[in-house]
Amino acid sequence: MGTASSIQHTSKQALFNVSKAVKKIAGFSEGRRNRLPRNQPRPPRDEDSCGGNDEKYKIGNEDGVVCRTQHSHIRNATMGKVGQTMSKKASAQKLEDAVTEFIEKLGNDEKLEQAKLQLIRSPSFDVWKCKREELVSYIMLMFGDLGITNELDISYNKLKKWLVAVEQNYITDVYFHNFRHAFCVTQMMYFMIHELKLMKYMTTLQLTILLVACICHDLDHPGLNNLYQEKAHTELSVLYHNCSPLEHHHCAVAFQLLSANDLNIFGNLEQTQFDEVSHIVIQLILATDMSIHDQILDDFHQKLEEGFSFDKPEHLLALQKILIKCCDISNEVRPLETSKVWVDRLFAEFFSQADRERREGLPVEVFMQQTKVKKANDQLAFIRKIILPLFERLGRVFPDVNGRILRSLHESELFYERLSHDEIGQLLTDDVTQQNNKKHVTFRKLEIPKVVVSDCSSERAI
Ligand SMILES: [Zn+2]
Repeated sequence: MGTASSIQHTSKQALFNVSKAVKKIAGFSEGRRNRLPRNQPRPPRDEDSCGGNDEKYKIGNEDGVVCRTQHSHIRNATMGKVGQTMSKKASAQKLEDAVTEFIEKLGNDEKLEQAKLQLIRSPSFDVWKCKREELVSYIMLMFGDLGITNELDISYNKLKKWLVAVEQNYITDVYFHNFRHAFCVTQMMYFMIHELKLMKYMTTLQLTILLVACICHDLDHPGLNNLYQEKAHTELSVLYHNCSPLEHHHCAVAFQLLSANDLNIFGNLEQTQFDEVSHIVIQLILATDMSIHDQILDDFHQKLEEGFSFDKPEHLLALQKILIKCCDISNEVRPLETSKVWVDRLFAEFFSQADRERREGLPVEVFMQQTKVKKANDQLAFIRKIILPLFERLGRVFPDVNGRILRSLHESELFYERLSHDEIGQLLTDDVTQQNNKKHVTFRKLEIPKVVVSDCSSERAI
């Protein structure tokens, strides 16, 4: 797959920065500022044996599976603690075994496998009902279904090991940016591949790149955004000169993982092909930084004005960036019962960061302050100013976007519009505390007059 020379240059530079970072990061001590402090309220772990709701924000523990430790082996490896502890190895092994069992069960029942594929081809798929091994197994199914395992000659074991390693390198203590989020982004991309019939326009390798970028795009996210990294002068902000430090870190961890022979799912590609694939994966992950949202949207708009062509590599790359961005902020395409949980989790992550910033004497953004935030109002603004324009732009290449995808988004818009009419700052925050023992949040209405939709900060996401 070729790329335009300017893009090649940029992506080569990005890859250089990432590989430099992988080496550099090996020297930096376990991120004092990147870790959740001990007295910080902990989000529910995504592990069945760790249970426990967060008392402060009351985000329900959904189901979860195996207890994993806070930092994965790659994190330890990159931070100078080479090797896995027994508990980490045990956690990875337990997950691998569970995945094997799940896949074997499907392998013996073709009808069941087809039913599962139908499930994950729908935006209505309920991620909150799945255990970890199911999420990993579903991604394996996607790879099989799209012919990726055949075309790239990836063995079942290698794919499983790589996915388990990826899962282990998401931090379970993080409210929003955890493996379940990465799965949702990937599953939405898989849905889009079918819904928009992307296989007609892209090669299997290009589809693989899209899925891999989704799976890896938030690896080792600490639950503290780029603004925090900059304000607190964290190691990541210094390492990447405040230029998308988190996104560069996600890339660094992704390629650190792929550098292991038994995890390198691209191991059968020629070196030049691998280099090109890496460049594009990095470009796509970097594109998820919302601070460059307008830039990416403008670039795509320009390609549309020129007359979009799948044959022009720079056009295709611009489209792929839009696709991953859409998937990254696509929760509102899902049914409300599923998406509402994500809204609460995102705000919980913000509030948790704000608490930490106060403790550290750092300035706190208004949109992160629990007492000032109007969740429904902010979500409405986010839908109107960010999500809808992004999907509408995608619809200029794929008119199918205007079907059920935009319909769902408009339903969400209506829901939050109604809710925002009744809202005063506390609305959803109060709801979170009234949440029942598990996952879903019930939105409580308050008798409050209409409030004006506030501006949506580009720093808001994701
Ligand atoms: Zn994300």
